[in-house]
Amino acid sequence: MLRLTELRLPLGHEPELLRAAILARLGIADDELLGVTVFRRGHDARKPRAIMWVYTLDLALRDEPGVLARHAGDANLRPAPDTRYKFVAHAPEGAPRPVVIGTGPCGLLAALVLAQMGFRPIILERGKLVRERTKDTWGLWRRGVLVPESNVQFGEGGAGTFSDGKLYSQIKDPRHYGRKVLTEFVKAGAPEEILYVSRPHIGTFRLVSMVESIREEIERLGGEYRFGCKVTGLRLGPGRQVEGVVLESGEEIATRSVVLAIGHSARDSFVMLRDAGVHLEAKPFSIGVRIEHPQGMIDRLRWGPNAGNPLLGAADYKLVHHARNGRSVYSFCMCPGGTVVAATSEPGRVVTNGMSQYSRAERNANAGIVVGISPADYPDDVLAGVEFQRRLESAAFLAGGGDYRAPGQLVGDFLAGRPSTTLGDVLPSYKPGVTPTDLSLCLPDFAVAAMREALLAFDRQMPGFARPDAVMTGVETRTSSPIRIRRGWDFQSLNTPGLFPAGEGAGYAGGILSAGVDGIRVAEALALLATGQEVPR
Ligand code: FAD
Repeated sequence: MLRLTELRLPLGHEPELLRAAILARLGIADDELLGVTVFRRGHDARKPRAIMWVYTLDLALRDEPGVLARHAGDANLRPAPDTRYKFVAHAPEGAPRPVVIGTGPCGLLAALVLAQMGFRPIILERGKLVRERTKDTWGLWRRGVLVPESNVQFGEGGAGTFSDGKLYSQIKDPRHYGRKVLTEFVKAGAPEEILYVSRPHIGTFRLVSMVESIREEIERLGGEYRFGCKVTGLRLGPGRQVEGVVLESGEEIATRSVVLAIGHSARDSFVMLRDAGVHLEAKPFSIGVRIEHPQGMIDRLRWGPNAGNPLLGAADYKLVHHARNGRSVYSFCMCPGGTVVAATSEPGRVVTNGMSQYSRAERNANAGIVVGISPADYPDDVLAGVEFQRRLESAAFLAGGGDYRAPGQLVGDFLAGRPSTTLGDVLPSYKPGVTPTDLSLCLPDFAVAAMREALLAFDRQMPGFARPDAVMTGVETRTSSPIRIRRGWDFQSLNTPGLFPAGEGAGYAGGILSAGVDGIRVAEALALLATGQEVPR
C-alpha cells in the first residue's frame, strides 16, 4: 500500500475525477490501480472562491515498488504506515483486576483496551448512567437546578458528552492510537466519515448512545461498571504501593493497579490526592469568556461565496493574539452552529462552555476567548489554581443574578468599559439565561486588558468579529486542569506505584481524542507491567 498526499481537487468534484487524478498523478494505467482508500480529506479555503479538497489516499497498486522507484524524490508518495492497532499483552488466567476511575474518554478507552486484553477492569464512576445524567444536565439548563454529582462534568461519558464532539488534536501520535480511538467510536455508532474527514465532529446526541455502546462492549468482555461510586481515598501499602481504593460509602476495593482518569473538575478528588501525599504540581491553564456571533457571518468570512455550501458545513475559526501585557489570548473549543452551555459542577458557581449537535445548525457560532495564566498568578500552593477558578466562578454566579444565569456583555460595551443593560441582535444561547452586566466584575484586570486588545486584533483578521452586538458570557474557567499529577516513564505516579494518572485531569490530555489516546497509553503500560514486561522508555 502506498500513501499519496496533497492531491487537490475542486470542492464537490465528480467522484470519477478522483481515480482519474490518481492515474494522471502517478502516470499509470487504469488496471494498475487496484484499490483506493481515502485516509484523510481536508479542504483548503485560503481562496474562498476556489476551495479545494485536499486528499491523503492509501493506494493498492499492481507494482508498488516500481511506482515508488519512478517517483523517488516525491515527498508526497511513500509506503503507507501500518495504522492497525496491536495489543501489547494478554491477561493471564486469573489476572488481578485493575480499577479505572472515571468514564470520560480517557477512562473509557483505558477500560475498553484493558477489557480487550482480558483484564476485566472494574470501572468506578461518581456520576450516573448517561441517560439519567442527561436529564440532570438539562435540569440545570432548563430549570436552574444543579445536581452536583450529575452534570456536564460528572457522569457516564465524562466532560465531552454534551459537547461539539470535535475529534481532532495536535498531539504527536507515532503509534496511531488516535486511529484506534476513532475506529472504536465508529464501532460504537459514530459516522464512518470521522475516519477520514480532517476535522471530524460527532455532536452531543450521538455521543450519548456511543458511550452506552462502549459500556455494553466492556461489560461483554468481562468489565464491571459501578455508578454513583465516588472514590474518596486510596489505600497505600509499603513503599506507597496502591493496595486499594476507598469509596464514599466506606467500602474498599482491593487492587494494585488504578487508572486515575477523573477529569479537570474533580476538585474534591484533587484534595484527596494531595492529602494522600500523591505528587501533584500546579500547571498553567486559561480563563476567559464565551463569545457568540451569527454563524452566517462566520461562514461568509471563511467561505466567501461558498457560505452555506452543505459540503463545507458550518465554518470554524482559530485565533490567537499575543497582548502587550505579555498574555496570550486565543479562541478555545470553537463550536460552529452550537450553543453555550452551563458547565458548572459546583453550587453557587457559573461556568460556560460550548456544545453542538452533529448538524451544527444553530444560529450562533460560539468559542471561548481565553487568556493564559500560570501558577505565578496566584499563591504558591498546589491547589491555588482551583481556588482562583472558584473565585471567578462565584463572581460570575453573583453577577448573573444568583440563579445560574450567566453574566453577559456586548462586545461594544466591553471594549468601551461600560456595563451592558440590554442585549442586541445576537441573542445569547446560554440557558437558563443571561443577565446583561459588566464581565470585568468576574475577570482579573490583566485578562480584561488582554481580551480588549485581542478582540480588536481578531477583528482585523475577521472583520466583524468585534461587532458591537456580538455577545459574551462568562466565565470560561474549565479549559484544562489546574494541576498535573506527574507520572514517570512507566506511566505510574512519581511517588505512588500502582497509580496511573491519566487524561485531562492529570494534565496529560486536552480534548476528547487526546484523552482517549492517553487512556490507551496508560492501559498499555499497566498491562505490560502486570504481565512482567518492560514499558518502553
Ligand atoms: P473527563 O471527561 O472529565 O472524565 C472524568 C470522569 O471521572 C467523569 O465522568 C467524572 O464523573 C469521573 N470522576 C471524577 N472524579 C471521580 C471520583 N473521585 N470517583 C469516581 N469518578 C470520578 N473536547 C474535544 O476534544 N472536543 C469538543 O468538542 C469538546 N467540547 C467540550 C464541551 C464541553 C461542554 C466540555 C465540558 C468539554 C468539552 N471538551 C471537548 C473537552 C473534553 O470533554 C475533555 O477534554 C475530555 O472529556 C477529558 O477526558 P477525561 O476522560 O480525561 O476526563
